[in-house]
Amino acid sequence: MKILIINSGSSSIKFQLIDMQDETVLASGLVERIGESQGDADNIKCTFRPGTDNEYQVKMCQSISDHRQGMHTATELLTNKTAAVMADKSELTAVGHRVVHGGEAFHAPTIITDEVIKAIEDMVPLAPLHNPAGLDGIHVAQEFFDTVPHVAIFDTAFYQTIPPHAHIYALPYEFYTEHRVRRYGFHGTSHKFITGEYAKLAQKPVSDCNLITIHLGNGCSMTAVENGKAIDTSMGVTPLEGLVMGTRSGDIDPAITAFLHRNNKMSVEDIDRVLNKESGLKGMCGMNDMRDIHSAIENGNERAKLALDVQTYKIKKYIGSYMAVLGRVDAIIFTAGIGENDDIVREKSLIGFEHFGAILDKESNKQRAKEPLKISTNDSQTDIWVIPTNEELAIARETRDVVATKY
Ligand code: ADP
Repeated sequence: MKILIINSGSSSIKFQLIDMQDETVLASGLVERIGESQGDADNIKCTFRPGTDNEYQVKMCQSISDHRQGMHTATELLTNKTAAVMADKSELTAVGHRVVHGGEAFHAPTIITDEVIKAIEDMVPLAPLHNPAGLDGIHVAQEFFDTVPHVAIFDTAFYQTIPPHAHIYALPYEFYTEHRVRRYGFHGTSHKFITGEYAKLAQKPVSDCNLITIHLGNGCSMTAVENGKAIDTSMGVTPLEGLVMGTRSGDIDPAITAFLHRNNKMSVEDIDRVLNKESGLKGMCGMNDMRDIHSAIENGNERAKLALDVQTYKIKKYIGSYMAVLGRVDAIIFTAGIGENDDIVREKSLIGFEHFGAILDKESNKQRAKEPLKISTNDSQTDIWVIPTNEELAIARETRDVVATKY
């Protein structure tokens, strides 16, 4: 059974072809700079059979005018005779699409029908950049792969179990009833995936797991998971709220926006851009890649040190508040680019939690592994783990499961 995963952004299409028999990746690719000027760098990349002896890569630089052309390029790569990962389109069983915002309409992965497309369109005001790009990908993929089911997997679905006291903002209630302003949460596919992976490692049902899951990549988010279900998360009506991120501010005093408008004469668009693209780690020290920040700290850069301190202090505050929310915490789990690779961020975020029963094993924490790694001491009441996320595999599994029950 071969499943194609598509993650369509405003100017890129990421795709992965997965053989579900043994969950191996047959091809993993990216078409970038869609609708942009050509540039010199390669904007089309595909790795076939990554991680095996037969791995090989194709890279090209080619102008791609729209998502249709991008999808065409991806299909040509996937059916390329030399790669031999898919003889033709008929070998495909289903296509899984990442959709950022499902609002309150979707609690689970869903076969894409005309009604589902309408519901995703209806959510565009809440995700003006992401949902239109996702819809472009769906429309074009449905044309190309017209004989197989297409499934939407929503970033927000995992969070539909969050109770009102954690998802309602203290604003006039009509903002919620009339404009759908509430906490939705994002990165749900990743948090749900590592919840399931932890349950397997702990050899107990997901419904017995109380977890604090910490996804630290370019975007950063945390989730409190009680009995396998999300009961709170750090991102809100948009992915701007919560932790300090690469370029996003995370939590700030909301009055800052009015202040910037009145005092700095900034427009709504300017404020939106600054909070999303020019804040976070980048805003504080000019760098948004954690590896650069560590090098700068080694070279005595005080602002880089401050940025790291601010980010890890915020993670620590969220861990503390989620401990209070959950009571019993079976495990704290780190994932994504920073969470999986950065022992310094993990250590700084966990300082002091030995008083709350979560004791980091500093030596294990320094180890690097592509596999899940327990980094707490044996006498720690709460386990601490690094569990690599794999959003594509999560989407592929969910797509397989939906198709299996419906067809
Ligand atoms: P995305 O949110 O785009 O999926 P990733 O999960 O791939 O992002 O995380 C990307 C970030 O991970 C980079 O910006 C970088 O800050 C961080 N990162 C990647 N590798 C390392 C590393 N070895 N040490 C510290 N940080 C790393």
